[in-house]
Amino acid sequence: MDSDKKRKLLLWVLWILIVPAGLYAVYQSYPPEVLFEWELLAFAAFAVLTALLPLNINGTPMYLVQWVTIAVFLKYGLFIEILMSQLTMLVLLFRTRNAVSRNERFSFNSLMFFVLSTLTGLIFFAAGGEIGSTSFVHIVSYGLLYQLVYLVANHLYLYADDVLSKTSKSFISLDSIWDFLITLLIFPYAITLYVLDAAIGVSALMLLGLPFMVMTVVLRLYNSSEKINIDLKKAGHIGHQLADRLSQDEVIDQFIEHVATMFKTDYAYVIDYRNSQLLVLRIFEDGRLVDMDLPAVPYTQGIAGQVIAHNAPLLFGKQKQWIELSTVQLPKDIESIMATPISRNNKIEGVLLIGSRKEFAFSANQLQIMEILSTYFAVSLEKSGYMEKVIAKSERCGLTKLYNYRYLDETLENCMKEIATGSLDQLSLIMMDIDRFKSINDTYGHQSGNEILIQLADLLREAVGEEGTLARYGGEEFVVLLPHYGKELALLLAENLRKQIADTEFTIQQSIQSDKQAETLHITMSIGVSAAPEDGDDGMAIIRNADRALYTGAKQAGRNKVAAYTK
Ligand code: GH3
Ligand code: MG
Ligand code: MG
Repeated sequence: MDSDKKRKLLLWVLWILIVPAGLYAVYQSYPPEVLFEWELLAFAAFAVLTALLPLNINGTPMYLVQWVTIAVFLKYGLFIEILMSQLTMLVLLFRTRNAVSRNERFSFNSLMFFVLSTLTGLIFFAAGGEIGSTSFVHIVSYGLLYQLVYLVANHLYLYADDVLSKTSKSFISLDSIWDFLITLLIFPYAITLYVLDAAIGVSALMLLGLPFMVMTVVLRLYNSSEKINIDLKKAGHIGHQLADRLSQDEVIDQFIEHVATMFKTDYAYVIDYRNSQLLVLRIFEDGRLVDMDLPAVPYTQGIAGQVIAHNAPLLFGKQKQWIELSTVQLPKDIESIMATPISRNNKIEGVLLIGSRKEFAFSANQLQIMEILSTYFAVSLEKSGYMEKVIAKSERCGLTKLYNYRYLDETLENCMKEIATGSLDQLSLIMMDIDRFKSINDTYGHQSGNEILIQLADLLREAVGEEGTLARYGGEEFVVLLPHYGKELALLLAENLRKQIADTEFTIQQSIQSDKQAETLHITMSIGVSAAPEDGDDGMAIIRNADRALYTGAKQAGRNKVAAYTK
């Protein structure tokens, strides 16, 4: 039996052993003076109302029911208080939805409330507390004792459970401090309710209860608008980040990751809609991207199909509400779903669907924020698609402004054709790679690495001049293509470059090490040289052979060297 099942079983066994018999024993030892009166019903109604309106503090709901239950205890005694606490516990149970089954939470919570009520009551009596007292000093001092014992016992009980189920948290957490403060706030309320009730009867509940309720509702409204503000700010931030991405893949990856984190989802899917088909583009499950090829389905199908058909978002709180709609195999443990169209210029481009294992995990406010995010996403996707095309067409590298790999390949192929037809006599190719560049990045940061690449490009541009075509071939690899140059001459130029580079002081401004003070450092390069026609018939071969010379002749021979390709 796994530990989860053991815990469940243990809780039920304890419940059956303790609660019914305990309740009977309490009834026998401290029989209540009244078992029912209409006023009691009014107390119960206010307890239930309060339980239905918890305050949300730092994401944890705080229940304020004690303002009623303490008064109930002082007026009616332990037995009635136990029943009242069990009643509010049931309300909480049906109000909060989370992954732990109600069955398990019932036994845990019922047992906890029972033990806390009984223990606190017994200590109250043992210390000399009296039910129905009319002495103000007695009420305040014993009421306070009751309240503090309850608070400490509650804390110990929860802490013990954390330790037993090995989800140990620190003994005093932010939540427990809030608990304590809220309790202090509630205590005078509870005492006032009791005293006023003794003086004027059930009207006391109205007099105190109504403002209490109004105050909670106002606080709750304020809380939720605050939350929307925070979420809107987050959404704006995500929008900015997406807009900075240059490739569509990056935009999609970032988007799905941000959305999943922001809405605390277990599952997120970006679904593409084109040619009347729906295709899942990205899957993000339990905190990471998942590689999975799902077949495309007709655009009318499933939850995404519904979103497209109505061009409207969908929000479900339970599996029962959507299971009929779904055609693709969504994970079986999804309960809540939120789905929005991703559209641009009123045209739907896709669907964003997120899912949670919790019931009722998403709110209508969140749905609106997800719609805003989907718009940011569509715009960023369009922009990055445009950027990709611009970059694909360009012939220069953005960082160093040197020719790029594509331009070099084209020029090289043209030269090789000229060699084949005899209109060009010969050419050479110099390939260069910075030595141990990774460790420079590691030490000074990528940004400093980039600064060095820019200065190196300037140096090379100056040194090569009109003699040949200079290109940034890859990350920290550069190539010089030299028409009319024989290998010997090219080796001379290469050696010159090598020396010049080794002798140069490179400056970095943005070092992560020394608080933005400029620093100088030296780098070296390893260089390989090949030539046509002797080293190959096509551009690919010339490049490959220069690369071989670079690695075997220069890098392996100790770096900071020039080597020629030899067959
Ligand atoms: P060696 O060539 O001497 O074997 O060592 P290396 O450290 O240079 O090794 P390698 O060529 O494998 O690594 C190249 C590194 O260059 C990896 C990456 O960190 C860095 N790099 C590549 N492109 C860029 C770039 O555009 N900017 C920066 N800052 N670093 C880059
Ligand atoms: Mg390299
Ligand atoms: Mg290198």
